[in-house]
Amino acid sequence: MDAFENGRYRNMDLTQRVGELERENAELRRALEAAEEANQAKSRFLSNMSHDIRTPMNAIVGMTAIGLSHIDEKARVQDCLDKIRTASSHLMSLVNDVLDMSRIDSGRVVFSQEEFSLADLTHELAVIVRPQAVQKEQNLYFEIGQICEENLIGDPLHLRQILVNIINNAVKYTPAGGKIHVRFSQRPVREDGVVWLDFLCEDNGIGMSEDFLERIFEPFERVKSSTVDKIEGTGLGMSIVKSLVDGMGGQIHVKSQEGRGSEFTVELPMLACPRKQVRSLPEDAQVLVVERKNDRAAQICDCLWGGGLVPVRLEGGMEAVTYLTEANYEGYMPSALLLGQELTDMPPLEAAAYVRKLAGPDFPILLVSEGDWAQMEYRATRAGINAFVPCPLFGSRLLDTIDSLVENAGGNSGKAGSREGDYSAYRLLLVEDNELNLEIATELLSMTGIQVETAENGLEAVEKFAAAPEGHYDIILMDIQMPVMNGYEAVRKIRKMDRADAGSVWIVAMTANAFMEDVRLAKDAGMNEHLSKPVDLERLQDVLRRQLH
Ligand code: ADP
Repeated sequence: MDAFENGRYRNMDLTQRVGELERENAELRRALEAAEEANQAKSRFLSNMSHDIRTPMNAIVGMTAIGLSHIDEKARVQDCLDKIRTASSHLMSLVNDVLDMSRIDSGRVVFSQEEFSLADLTHELAVIVRPQAVQKEQNLYFEIGQICEENLIGDPLHLRQILVNIINNAVKYTPAGGKIHVRFSQRPVREDGVVWLDFLCEDNGIGMSEDFLERIFEPFERVKSSTVDKIEGTGLGMSIVKSLVDGMGGQIHVKSQEGRGSEFTVELPMLACPRKQVRSLPEDAQVLVVERKNDRAAQICDCLWGGGLVPVRLEGGMEAVTYLTEANYEGYMPSALLLGQELTDMPPLEAAAYVRKLAGPDFPILLVSEGDWAQMEYRATRAGINAFVPCPLFGSRLLDTIDSLVENAGGNSGKAGSREGDYSAYRLLLVEDNELNLEIATELLSMTGIQVETAENGLEAVEKFAAAPEGHYDIILMDIQMPVMNGYEAVRKIRKMDRADAGSVWIVAMTANAFMEDVRLAKDAGMNEHLSKPVDLERLQDVLRRQLH
């Protein structure tokens, strides 16, 4: 019906119209407020950004000038270079965080659903976060609670980013000598295959006020105490973490008390991806465990019992030698020896050397330790250790390693002539267009003994691979951005070739693009893993060790 009748509004319609106008007005006001708020947030973000970028930039520019004006004073120049290095790494993390934030904000972050091992992820985490904690003489303790399913489907890269951020903060905001406790556990797998991963990170550090906890997930928010001001950070990590946890359908909670410490809990849903385990070790097989500390020994023994094996626990190297001498004589040698991190009388590697001499080359000796294998591999293998099982200890990892060692006792599954740490029997194709990077990588690789062939771009790599006999290359290190043909395209072409090694040759992306999406693009193109530049010897060796032995 027309609202206007006889030249004027009827009372009913007028009231209705006024109501509508008021509602429209209120909506407009809300939209205006939201736009203003978004605008203010953006300005605040930009002004914080420009401040946070300027600070390290000032240090870089200033220190470069000071260094140049004292170019003949070695100590002074060294000091300036150290400060420039610190400021640039801070700038780098700021740029990475901001780019991450913008990807999250614009919805460009895609969460993958891929199979991964929780044991591998936990070990990677421990390797990443432990060095800083060791430097601060903190007690960083990883506990593995009830784990029903180690093999999961989810987004391991983003999961790692979340957990590294939280643990790194605990290390940063806990004074030297403090305690950090990290715990992983799972709830039972549901009927639909979903398994919730519960993660806890507890520290006894400087903590946060209740007031601050309300803002902790806002970008650029940092506790403004003088202690914190001396600790480097961008104030973006937590807001990235929160967005990632939300994006993965999980929850994050923080409890904290100033001066007492903080507790972060993250709950994330994953899908269980059970794997059939076929083990060849007979039930009741005896395994000798040598570790001084009761809690560590108990953890190892529990895992062994869980796999149907029978642990015999000793505390010292000499005891182990005596036990094995008798066992050898009487003909009841255990299936393997597990050396822990600390023995009562000698370092584990020394004990390994004694046992190796006594028990011959085929007897499996394993090292179970929190240490960084990359750093001790050379000495350990020479002492006679066959395999390393990293802590935090996952039962299946320990049992699988013992199993495969016992199965191939003495055998060498690698190419003929290869020894652990010696890769001279293998061939690697290094694809890199930048001369300087090529020189660095060739130099680093030459230290491992592997035979290196090079290609200057993707096309050359494809041609070399096509021309080589099958199995010629064991590994390809592939740069991504190259003229003529980029790395992604080259890998796609190699993977499509009609030859037996096209699908199996191990291809590692080696690139300056270090974002999660880049890692994923590399995987989608058919690459097996991703090394971000600058590449160092340790990480190269790690890849060779995993692939070539
Ligand atoms: P930052 O780069 O400053 O570490 P984050 O976004 O990761 O930024 O954290 C935001 C702020 O929250 C930190 O600056 C710090 O003040 C506080 N914070 C985070 N984790 C902890 C913790 N474990 N203990 C005390 N304070 C913390």
